[in-house]
Amino acid sequence: MTAESMAAALLLRISCFLLLILGTAAALYVSLYLMRSKTSVAKIQNRWPSQRQVAREIFYSSIAAVQIGVADGAYSVVQAGITPPSIAVVFAHAMILVLVHDIYFYFTHRALHSRLLFRRIHALHHEFRNPTPFANFAEHPVEIFLINVVSPYAFAYLLGASEPSILIFWAWLIFTASIGHCGFDIRLPVDRLPGRPFMTPAAHDLHHQHVCVNFGLYFRTMDCLFATLRPASAASNTRLATDAESDAGTSNR
Ligand SMILES: [Zn+2]
Ligand SMILES: [Zn+2]
Repeated sequence: MTAESMAAALLLRISCFLLLILGTAAALYVSLYLMRSKTSVAKIQNRWPSQRQVAREIFYSSIAAVQIGVADGAYSVVQAGITPPSIAVVFAHAMILVLVHDIYFYFTHRALHSRLLFRRIHALHHEFRNPTPFANFAEHPVEIFLINVVSPYAFAYLLGASEPSILIFWAWLIFTASIGHCGFDIRLPVDRLPGRPFMTPAAHDLHHQHVCVNFGLYFRTMDCLFATLRPASAASNTRLATDAESDAGTSNR
C-alpha cells in the first residue's frame, strides 16, 4: 500500500466516523428538537439548550470522530491480512467488547470524577448539563482516548476481534450514546424487559445534573452493584434540574 492510498483510506475512515457520530445525532436532533410539535415524547428538562451549547457539542464530537477514525485506521493496519472469522465469532466478539466496555467505562468514569481528573478532563462533558444528541462524544480528547480508544481497541487486540466485530461495537455505542444524551424521555422496547437492565436517557441526564449518580453506560448493573444507581424519569429530572440551577448559584462546579 502506498502512502497516498493509506492517507486516502484513513481520510475515508475519519469521514465515516464523522458521518456516523454526527449523522446519528443530527437525525435525533431534527426529529426531537426541530420537529418538536410532531413528537409526543417528553423533554426531560424544561429548559432548551442554547445554539452556542449545540455548536460546542458538535465541535467536540467532531474532534472525537477524528480521533476514533485514526485509532480505527491503526487497528485496520494491525488486522491486515488476518482471515475473517465466522459470523458467530464476529457477533460473540462484539458482545464481549460491549460487556467489557461497560465495566471498563464504569470504573474509568468514576476515576474521571475524582478531584484530580474532574476539573482537568471530565468537566468539559459536564459543561452540557442539559445535553442534546450532539453531546454523544463531546468530551475532552484525553477522555476520548481513555474511554473510546483504549477500549475497545486494546481489548479487541487482546481478544483477536476482527474489524466487523469493531463495526458492530461502534454501531451499538454510537446509537446508545446518541439516545442517552438525547434530552428526551425516550423508552425503547428493551426498557420494558424484566429488571430493566438498560440505562435510559433520563438516567444519564440525571448524571449530567447530579454528577455522583448513574455512572454506567449501557447497563444499570455496575451502578446497582456499587450503590450509585438513581432511578429517573422526565418528571423527577425536571424537578431536580430546578434544584441544580439554584445549586449552581452557590457552587462553581
Ligand atoms: Zn454524558
Ligand atoms: Zn460524568
